[in-house]
Amino acid sequence: MNGPVVALSGGIGGAKLALGLARVLPPGALTVIANTGDDFEHLGLAISPDLDTLLYTLAELADPLQGWGRRDETWNFMETLRQLGGETWFALGDRDLALHVERTRRLAAGATLAEVTEHFRAHFGIAARILPMSDAPVRTRLRTAAGWLDFQDYFVRRRCAPAVGEIQYAGAATAAALPAALAALADPALRAIVICPSNPLLSVGPMLAIPALRSALQQARAPVIAVSPLIGGRAIKGPTAKLMQELGLAVDAAEVARGYAELIDVFVADEADAGMTVPDGVRLVTAPTLMTTLADRERLARAVLQS
Ligand code: GDP
Repeated sequence: MNGPVVALSGGIGGAKLALGLARVLPPGALTVIANTGDDFEHLGLAISPDLDTLLYTLAELADPLQGWGRRDETWNFMETLRQLGGETWFALGDRDLALHVERTRRLAAGATLAEVTEHFRAHFGIAARILPMSDAPVRTRLRTAAGWLDFQDYFVRRRCAPAVGEIQYAGAATAAALPAALAALADPALRAIVICPSNPLLSVGPMLAIPALRSALQQARAPVIAVSPLIGGRAIKGPTAKLMQELGLAVDAAEVARGYAELIDVFVADEADAGMTVPDGVRLVTAPTLMTTLADRERLARAVLQS
């Protein structure tokens, strides 16, 4: 079966599958809608971590070990900033820095985030479309014992250490979804909508909190397929499991499937979770979902498209 595919993605986990999809689909068939709830302003720069991870990953420029930032990066800027007593808790490599400077300049000159992202996509030679979920600011915030924290303060500066009692997606309820994202989701030729194995609370949550995006998924004629970010009750990377536990959720793939129940047709879980139950109306498909190599990413992408 042919036709375009839309993927909803956060950063590292989502971008791995987005790359697999981009490589197995015809050029240009993939549109990725990205979370911007992690975006922030730092050192005067507009930073969009998930969009950047997607740009670098799909351009095959990403650092293969960290999953974020660029390969062959140098760190002269950070070293000098440290010498000068500047703020160094958020690492910005020299090459990466150019992207943030240029984004900030273009935004200040009146471009939208979607226009800037499209400009970068074209210049990196990426065939897939990459769309921010909205041009309006949405900011994920977390209530902890240390009070309400901005996302990057929690995630990077405090390394996800504070226990979280509540998550807020500030601005999401009134944010307009990007019209191009809604058009892609409503395309009658659409083959599938894939919710990538991203953090359901921090990466997919902000997207689904935009009312028009959520209803576009509910009304979509194409099958909606979610891939589990948990394997055997564990996250591959990041605070997904810790957060779910702190918020009183069960820490397993079945809980993720329940969270998506009213939106999805298919839940792709790892073979390790073959015995799990899924909500009524959702079909369970199992596949090897750990993406270590490029071949793993392509294999999972094919399994998702065939599910
Ligand atoms: P972030 O925005 O950089 O935190 O990245 P995402 O939200 O897109 O991805 C984080 C999630 O990806 C975590 O819950 C991980 O468990 C999941 N993840 C990372 N690598 C893999 C993988 O190879 N397979 C699966 N199934 N999940 C993964």
